[in-house]
Amino acid sequence: MSLEKNNIRVRFAPSPTGPLHLGGVRTALYNFLFARKHKGKFILRIEDTDQKRFVDGAEKYILDSLNWCGLNPDEGPGLGGSLGPYRQSERKEIYSSFVQQLIESKHAYYAFDTPEELDSMRAKMKSSGVQSPTYNNITRESMKNSLTLPSEETARLIDSGEKYVVRIKMPRNQEIKFEDLVRGWVSVNTNHIDDKIIYKSDGMPTYHLANVVDDYCMKITHVIRGEEWLPSAPLHIYLYDCFGWLNSAPKFAHLPLILKPDGNGKLSKRDGDRLGFPVFPIEWNSPEGEVFPGYREEGFSNEAFVNMLSFLGWNPGTDQEVFNMTELITEFSLARVGKSGSKYDYAKTKWFNQQHLRLRSDLELFEMMMAKDDTVLSRFSKEYILKIISLVKDRAVFATDILDEAACFFTEKVHFEELSVEKKWNQNMVPHLNNILDLLTSLDDFTNEDIERVFKEYLQLNNLSFGKIMPMLRIAITGKMAGPSLFVTMELLGLNKVQKRVKHAINTIL
Ligand code: GLU
Repeated sequence: MSLEKNNIRVRFAPSPTGPLHLGGVRTALYNFLFARKHKGKFILRIEDTDQKRFVDGAEKYILDSLNWCGLNPDEGPGLGGSLGPYRQSERKEIYSSFVQQLIESKHAYYAFDTPEELDSMRAKMKSSGVQSPTYNNITRESMKNSLTLPSEETARLIDSGEKYVVRIKMPRNQEIKFEDLVRGWVSVNTNHIDDKIIYKSDGMPTYHLANVVDDYCMKITHVIRGEEWLPSAPLHIYLYDCFGWLNSAPKFAHLPLILKPDGNGKLSKRDGDRLGFPVFPIEWNSPEGEVFPGYREEGFSNEAFVNMLSFLGWNPGTDQEVFNMTELITEFSLARVGKSGSKYDYAKTKWFNQQHLRLRSDLELFEMMMAKDDTVLSRFSKEYILKIISLVKDRAVFATDILDEAACFFTEKVHFEELSVEKKWNQNMVPHLNNILDLLTSLDDFTNEDIERVFKEYLQLNNLSFGKIMPMLRIAITGKMAGPSLFVTMELLGLNKVQKRVKHAINTIL
């Protein structure tokens, strides 16, 4: 059966505990591409059950980031959809009825242990050689919970307002198996899973319960999320089983980690500062007043950013690297998502930006540049600027580089780069520069082809190498050693300016 007929529904389920890191955006992107490819729905669910970690502004940041990347959800908070609410804090009643169901079916139990009692259990276990003691199918038997207390005592404690949590009762020695769409079969013995808290004393569910209940209630067909959630998946499968939902459980795909550029560990939110590149899609202004840079503000285009992210874990199986969103939707498949971590590469991110910049028309770039700052440009004709954009755009990584690359076209006074002069200016060659200038002056048409012809003829006649004269001429006209075609540059500037600049260089550089 084709996936289309399955009514594909996927969700991106961030917690509003801070800005979305680029790994989070990658998860959203893969969910989005999968949904669009199979004509399904992409849902945004805000997982805000952990009230202590709630950060002001984070939800808006998530929406703004998705919006900038063009990953607009079909359903979500404030976006409509019939299976909401889409913020977990607004679904409290739903969870409490499901928790009740698990308690009644004896899959979960009340636990009244105080923090001190928990500490003492852990200390005791440690001293008997258990490295990381947990509340599990062995230790629970000596703790204060509804499995060990008489039922009247449990009822009395609850009635008297004693604080409690609800824990899942993991069975002993059972294999939990599921087929992950990226990693293949995963099998875990329940002895390795602790009796996780599924409901807290503040009346809020924990992530595990809320996540499973919501995926079920929201009819999610595929859970596509980061590898860090793989250890939780067996518990989630077990919860589906307890509820009797195993047949309609979603399929799982755990995406590979995004690694630091040197491959040593996961790229973290703190790495940006240390390694000198943004780790956030758009700028984040923390409630404490700190500002963290974003790709948008650094001048990256959303297409390039998305294209770069798409390759952090997936590949199309061909040599093509530059993709727009429509192409990504067509090509994307979970079958081509790899298991091993992907190293983040900032230089490659810039390369993607450069490739996408090249795809823009000169007119688009003109409009972008004018919108950004037209103080200098407004003094020149649109036709002139367009010709310059076409000449220099291949050299630019960011739209703003175009102005830097083309600085010599928009200034009267050329600044001679010291290092270039030191390396390439040879006073003995100045008479040749004068001669070339005379030849150029006598041209009928000051076109790049004629300029090039005259220049080359002169070099040949005088047995001069290109490398001796060309850099000097370039320094005189543009101030630098590198740039786009000098002959086209000269044509665009016109004979008058070329004359003035070469003469000025001869008189000033000594
Ligand atoms: N709220 C979890 C997160 O912050 C969601 C994990 C999942 O997709 O199940 O990443």
